[in-house]
Amino acid sequence: MTGTTLDDYTDRYAQRVRGMTASEIRALFAVASRPEVVSLAGGAPYIAALPLDAVGEMLGQLASEHGTSTLQYGIGQGTLDLRERICEVMALSGIDVACGASPEDVVVTVGGQQALDLVARLFLDPGDVVLAEGPTYVGALGVFQAAQAQVVHVAMDDDGLVPEALEATIAEVARSGRRAKFLYTIPTYQNPTGVTLSEERRERVLDICERAGLLVVEDDPYGQLGFDGAAPAPLRARRRDGVFYLSTFSKTFAPGLRVGWILAPHAVRDKLVIANEAQVLCPSAFAQAAVATYLSTMPWRQQLKVYREVYRERRDALLSALTDLMPEDTTWTEPNGGLFVWATLPEGLDAKAMMPRAIAARVAYVPGVGFYADGSGAGNMRLNFSFPPPERIREGVRRLAGVLEQEADMRRVFGAGPIAGDRPGTREPRPGLA
Ligand code: PMP
Repeated sequence: MTGTTLDDYTDRYAQRVRGMTASEIRALFAVASRPEVVSLAGGAPYIAALPLDAVGEMLGQLASEHGTSTLQYGIGQGTLDLRERICEVMALSGIDVACGASPEDVVVTVGGQQALDLVARLFLDPGDVVLAEGPTYVGALGVFQAAQAQVVHVAMDDDGLVPEALEATIAEVARSGRRAKFLYTIPTYQNPTGVTLSEERRERVLDICERAGLLVVEDDPYGQLGFDGAAPAPLRARRRDGVFYLSTFSKTFAPGLRVGWILAPHAVRDKLVIANEAQVLCPSAFAQAAVATYLSTMPWRQQLKVYREVYRERRDALLSALTDLMPEDTTWTEPNGGLFVWATLPEGLDAKAMMPRAIAARVAYVPGVGFYADGSGAGNMRLNFSFPPPERIREGVRRLAGVLEQEADMRRVFGAGPIAGDRPGTREPRPGLA
């Protein structure tokens, strides 16, 4: 067809496409990646910290010496070699044989993102409810929206999901006659807040979900990127049934390879493999061989330490710049790991509305609204510290502080005016997160 316009397609779209909108992050990528902009917007790992020559040599050999298998089709579940290595990686976090982790129940996926999509395909019918932290990972919101499910947020504070709020939300959903299928949670060094669910709350959250018959989808890309000692053991290390554990090599090795996985309850494994075959036939054999070889021949535990050190230094740079430079009444989380800090702006400021002025001041962040399904988050922003070096982080915060001060001045001079964050009901009190 030639000469068609966008409108020619609108009445042909599937129902699920209606909920699809460009993510806040994608829309920003083009401007935020200009060299003069300090981007605190992305979530990119610092790949330059990898031994790139050694990785390059390994990749070359995988093609030249093992190409007949690495460049061939593989199987839907992923190679046994990689699934065994994945079990070694999970054991480091406490998910081991003793809690029933086995290569048999691992399904390799195209990054953590496809893992989310597979779980959604398996469990979500249109109209189903997914419970998730408020705020939560923007890419998960996209997947749940595409599945025509409704995300209902559960309040969190500096210790993660609030168990009482979880109980109340489950009851509220039940009263409304809808069906909550699972709790989607990122308990450790969460995206976007950097907050970790406390040890004590982990058991309570699991008990509440068990009692309510809710599955738990535990998304854990960041658990091994802790700066101040080990994180509490993952939920899957505490329960073998009812918990789907999702992770990825994107943050601990390299996102360009697109390798992630699901550790599924045994009974569900076959369905996941069938869904995987329907979606991608098989994950890339080459990428799987690359990760498996990296894990068997290169010092990956040492590399984890390198990433942690780099990110700890950058987290410190961001926190001290925020303390030194941000206007009063701005608050932020203080993460012990991961890649992100979540900032709360002085009352009345709108991070999305402020974005063009921030870009003009050559700094970028992700406005908080992108991390909510219900329009909350106008007064928040996510700041990334994994990619820019410490001095750029400080410069970025200096520029951001200038923009915030200008905004506050304008509000003083011209009055408040209606902004998204002031609409009644769009800002939920989230105690302690600030
Ligand atoms: N889950 C969370 C919480 C994430 O932050 C990300 C990546 N930003 C993903 C899943 C997706 O991971 P991947 O890049 O491996 O697809």
